[in-house]
Amino acid sequence: MRTAETMGTAAGIESVPEIFGSMVFDDRAMKAGLPADVYLTLKKTIDEGQHLDKTVADAVAEAMKNWAISKGATHYTHWFQPLTGITAEKHDSFIEPAEGGGVLMEFSGKELIKGEPDASSFPSGGLRATFEARGYTAWDPTSYAFIKGKALCIPTAFCAYGGEALDKKTPLLRSMEALNKQAVRVLRLMGDDQVKYVRSSVGPEQEYFLITREMYDQRPDLRFTGRTLFGAKPLKGQEMDDHYFGAIKPRVSEFMEDLNRELWKLGILAKTEHNEVAPAQHELAPIYATTNIATDHNQLTMEIMSKVAERHGLVCLLHEKPFAGVNGSGKHNNWSISTDYGVNLFSPGETPDHNVRFLIFLCAVIKAVDDYQDLLRISVATAGNDHRLGANEAPPAVISIFLGDELTAVLDALESDAPYAGTERKRMKLGVDVLPVFRRDTTDRNRTSPFAFTGNKFEFRMLGSSNSIACANIMLNSAVADTLASFADVLERAEDIDKAVHEIIINTIKTHKRIIFNGNGYDDEWIREATEKRGLLNYRTTPDCMPHLLDPKNVEMLTRQGVYTEPELRSRRDIMLENYIRTLIIEANTMAGMAKTNIMPAVAQYCADMARNASSKKEVCPDLKCAYETDLVRKLSVLLDEIAVRTSELEKAIQNVSGVSDIIDKSALIRDTLPEKMCELRIACDEAETLTARSYWPFPTYSELLYGVH
Ligand code: ADP
Ligand code: MG
Repeated sequence: MRTAETMGTAAGIESVPEIFGSMVFDDRAMKAGLPADVYLTLKKTIDEGQHLDKTVADAVAEAMKNWAISKGATHYTHWFQPLTGITAEKHDSFIEPAEGGGVLMEFSGKELIKGEPDASSFPSGGLRATFEARGYTAWDPTSYAFIKGKALCIPTAFCAYGGEALDKKTPLLRSMEALNKQAVRVLRLMGDDQVKYVRSSVGPEQEYFLITREMYDQRPDLRFTGRTLFGAKPLKGQEMDDHYFGAIKPRVSEFMEDLNRELWKLGILAKTEHNEVAPAQHELAPIYATTNIATDHNQLTMEIMSKVAERHGLVCLLHEKPFAGVNGSGKHNNWSISTDYGVNLFSPGETPDHNVRFLIFLCAVIKAVDDYQDLLRISVATAGNDHRLGANEAPPAVISIFLGDELTAVLDALESDAPYAGTERKRMKLGVDVLPVFRRDTTDRNRTSPFAFTGNKFEFRMLGSSNSIACANIMLNSAVADTLASFADVLERAEDIDKAVHEIIINTIKTHKRIIFNGNGYDDEWIREATEKRGLLNYRTTPDCMPHLLDPKNVEMLTRQGVYTEPELRSRRDIMLENYIRTLIIEANTMAGMAKTNIMPAVAQYCADMARNASSKKEVCPDLKCAYETDLVRKLSVLLDEIAVRTSELEKAIQNVSGVSDIIDKSALIRDTLPEKMCELRIACDEAETLTARSYWPFPTYSELLYGVH
């Protein structure tokens, strides 16, 4: 029998199909381990959300336990995604004392379905008073259980006793359900009586940096904040563009091989990997999966990347901006919706009928993105991501949609009721039968758009590398569901469906075309046009956007779709702002600490040694000028004084913030003061770094960090 450990050591022996999913209680394992009738009932629950009764749950738990034990597991855990953004687990062993001594390995349906972790130390944003610290976890049967280490991990949702969601998974499942309901409504109204359900799928492309563990350990900024707070430009940066898709270094490729095996064992379809734009930066893309599964998998991927890196003496940096002046890391959220019979609703298709269905769903996305720009921006807002958005390397903080020239021309033609040049010159009348036929867009891919249509899916590119993809997909699913609901309301009342569909399409284009932009999103001119002429939103930072989560229109939409309650939204706003505040204060304190205890002493020492050198040289040869030493001592002494002043200014700014208790005021004050003070301190320190002998400098430099893995 193969156990969890021997799987690890056997790397390189088994073939990929053999290891793929070997640590997952997937369809194959269920079929093999469950009585046929139980398997069918469970399958119905997974596919159609049917309720699972206790006897079935017991049978599933028993089979799951036997399977897990056969793979070497001794414990089980309800695995969940609290609002911290990482995943949490609490392990219970299967053992139960047996009568007459010894133990039995037990696991009941009740234990499978519901758990009660002590939830008091997870953030709840006020949703759970400390006197009722209990929360409970509930099994998500649509995401397979898996084994990590010695534990059977059961994907679960995490709620407070009153039912309020304390995690990211619950609202995600609710948003998928809302989208399902409204999309099916629209499809049925358009004459599709075959459709049973609709699901959204996601393929997230994950960027990351790899550096050596040894260097990481020498940098308090990386250890405490995940990013470098100091560091002069490397001697060579990314200006040669020679890293992107370049040959992968042996140590990195060993890491990737190991990572792939670990991910495959968990049934994660890790597919492509390549070097990214910046030195030491890489990317991993999986094959897309149903949204909640893709979300679970992305959380696991980030966790396993960090673990595998450790095994290789490396550290995986998932921060959005680990190095100033070097590209940051994001996550591209490729998103589409498809029917139970396998049709992608964003696929234009080959016939006008299909085109009409495509156009109505396209219009739903256009309207949803325009109406809820703020929610999409909020869904990717973190202190880390604020460094990327709008910094000419990632999409701007302004949301717009790239459709490509061909599709834009189709929409233009529809709007003006003119013939679309791409098809026969037939005058378009009202009525679907004469809508133009068009195919997958062939235009060049636009890399600067925050939200790009890429043939049969939308690529939302604003996510930060460390973000959970749950938030972005919750907002996308909900906004599109709500828009589809408004379309369905109109269609339900319509006498002539074809005519009504056509009108919806044309009205949507007319009202929401301001959100469509095919040009260069990195251009300053675009930001001016977007905000001044088109009236699009530009929330540059987390404190700018986060309060808008509670704008009435947003609360109304999200509660109408049953995705969040108002208290749940309030809690999320508070947690996100709290997170921003803590992050910046930790960064500011770390900076001040490093300046005082590492940088200033090092520079002072170097200056003193230089001065001593110069005077001892002068003792021997009094005619010497020692211009080099004198000049350097002068420059560094001036800088040292400046560093001291900047440090105490930063400390004062930190102090000022501590007097404010309102969370919105506090985050705004932090935004307006700390980054500026940190930047000033950094400039002085980075300049000192360029003048100080390497042997005196207390930290590995950018050149070393970025080129240290061979
Ligand atoms: P690119 O041209 O950006 O490399 P790929 O086809 O390789 O595009 O896809 C990038 C990501 O998008 C992958 O994770 C892939 O699985 C995912 N993807 C492809 N098709 C879909 C789809 N219909 N829905 C969601 N994600 C998809
Ligand atoms: Mg991409």
